[in-house]
Amino acid sequence: HGDFNQKIDYVFKVVLIGDSAVGKSQLLARFARNEFSVDSKATIGVEFQTKTLAIDHKTVKAQIWDTAGQERYRAVTSAYYRGAVGAMLVYDMTKRQSFDHMARWLEELRGHADKNIVIMLIGNKCDLGSLRAVPTEDAQEFAERENLCFMETSALEATNVESAFMTVLTEIYHIIS
Ligand code: GDP
Ligand code: MG
Repeated sequence: HGDFNQKIDYVFKVVLIGDSAVGKSQLLARFARNEFSVDSKATIGVEFQTKTLAIDHKTVKAQIWDTAGQERYRAVTSAYYRGAVGAMLVYDMTKRQSFDHMARWLEELRGHADKNIVIMLIGNKCDLGSLRAVPTEDAQEFAERENLCFMETSALEATNVESAFMTVLTEIYHIIS
């Protein structure tokens, strides 16, 4: 059929947080454009990307915000978190430190964001299984204790990326509608 003006029923702001180099920008590139670049330089100036999709016959515009090199502790401003209804808390499963920092990212998120925000813990780079430094059970335990969803993903191989974002967006939809 021909063109029509698509009516947007909902806009959901989702923020990506976590240490530098864990793969936040590549997860976003994979989800929004089905792209991945091996040599990803910190994207300057791009605040968010959108993807419009259907949930329960409604049109939802996901507005996914990415940090542009503000990953130092407390450097992410409150404007970044404002209005967010979802968050992806990303660590690199081959870097233990990036997982150990999840607690303080979560604390910062909870200090700024809405009480009902849906949070997904993501262990990215699961394609690098032989270099794993964070056991799945450790992350599961943390997620259960903190009441978060949890998935292991690979932006490189497109494993669970769609699924992780769709889980968060669907959960948001059920809370809001
Ligand atoms: P950010 O700083 O969190 O935005 O991280 P980037 O998305 O820029 O990724 C940092 C580095 O990790 C880049 O060299 C990416 O190519 C690489 N990377 C990102 N996701 C994956 C993944 O799923 N698997 C592998 N093997 N490398 C990844
Ligand atoms: Mg980035």
